[in-house]
Amino acid sequence: MLKNMAFGVALMAGSAQAAEVPKNVIFFIGDGMGPAYTTAYRYYQADSQVSQVTDTVFDRLLIGSASTFPHDETVVTDSAAGATALATGTKSYNGAIGVDAHKQPLDSMLVQAKSMGWHTGVIATSHVNHATPASFVAHADSRRNYQEIAEQFYSRRLKEDQPLVDLILGGGQRYFPMEQDQLGSKMVNWGYQYADKLTQLDSLTRLPALGLFAPKQLPYAVDSDQPKRLSAMVSTGLRLLSQSDTPFFLMVEGSLIDWCGHDNDIACAMKEMADFAGALEVAEAFAQERGDTLVVFTADHSTGGLTLGAGGEYRWEAEQVKQTGASLRTITDALLNQPQEQFPQILARFLGFELTQGELGELAKVSKEEEALRWKLASILSGHSYTGWTTSGHTAVDVPLGAMGPGSERFRGHLDNTEIAKALKQMIR
Ligand SMILES: [Zn+2]
Repeated sequence: MLKNMAFGVALMAGSAQAAEVPKNVIFFIGDGMGPAYTTAYRYYQADSQVSQVTDTVFDRLLIGSASTFPHDETVVTDSAAGATALATGTKSYNGAIGVDAHKQPLDSMLVQAKSMGWHTGVIATSHVNHATPASFVAHADSRRNYQEIAEQFYSRRLKEDQPLVDLILGGGQRYFPMEQDQLGSKMVNWGYQYADKLTQLDSLTRLPALGLFAPKQLPYAVDSDQPKRLSAMVSTGLRLLSQSDTPFFLMVEGSLIDWCGHDNDIACAMKEMADFAGALEVAEAFAQERGDTLVVFTADHSTGGLTLGAGGEYRWEAEQVKQTGASLRTITDALLNQPQEQFPQILARFLGFELTQGELGELAKVSKEEEALRWKLASILSGHSYTGWTTSGHTAVDVPLGAMGPGSERFRGHLDNTEIAKALKQMIR
């Protein structure tokens, strides 16, 4: 009888509420991933041989959009203010890490999850103490206080015998040194299992786990022999977090989409998008199989003012983008201080198409200045694919918002970035 009554109460509360509460929450943030990035990625991943454009994981999960403006009058946010809004539900100034406009500390949804006894994790392709993951873990007046932020990953424990962050995967070895009595070794002595190579992800077998795979950010996917590193880290993270019955909160950042955008490097950005999409698909499959996990994706802002179509032409050439096999920074390093006669041979290592004599001449004029050469190359390669850019900084356009799983209906329509955080915080109980 008691059992039946309990069942009845559950049914009444049921469809409206019980179904809306996720056990686990996975929050994906594509840094700089404005709407032109998800659009470009759709055409980039399509099979041009059969002219077939298929839905991406972003298209499948998309249910809304989000505004990103910071606390001040600038309208255009940086990653720190954007991530602070997404992590805490409060808008702040550009540069703020987990503090409000008066520099007072704010509690993030990750800290809230830990206080509820959940497991917690952050995964990023930048150093893990970079703006976005930092805003979920630390408080700092300035995003540039990297060491102060890194220390808080260890020191900010809510209970002495429990880590604040159970899973930390990304770059940043230089901020977690493994020499005796330094931060990294203190964490290992405290109980973190540690790996420093992506090929050792399988060696991580339990929480708490710390995996740092580069001195600072990971190499760009387009330059890397491990372009699927975010997908691999997310697979490992979900394996470790799902070992126990404890609920978990996991933040995943595709950090370098933004860095490629700052360089106006479309080939770099699309390879980062491919890895971010793959990582989101790993979470999508996990959530589909279990039915108890909410997956949300959005961006903190858009970067570069990316658009598809430029120079008065009605076209965008994904094939030209696919045929660029390195980042602008790598290609620039190879061309720097080389004579123009060598350029075609050097470029053939990276490009599946040839530049005109006029374009080679323009590059030669600036071949001794790294920055000028890189921007000239950016302009030429963007021209080949009819990719447009408006800035080397961020823009204020609304960003995509997608969700699946219990509670996903809370993210339908247009939301402000702070409302995304508030909805998530209400579900982390
Ligand atoms: Zn940025």
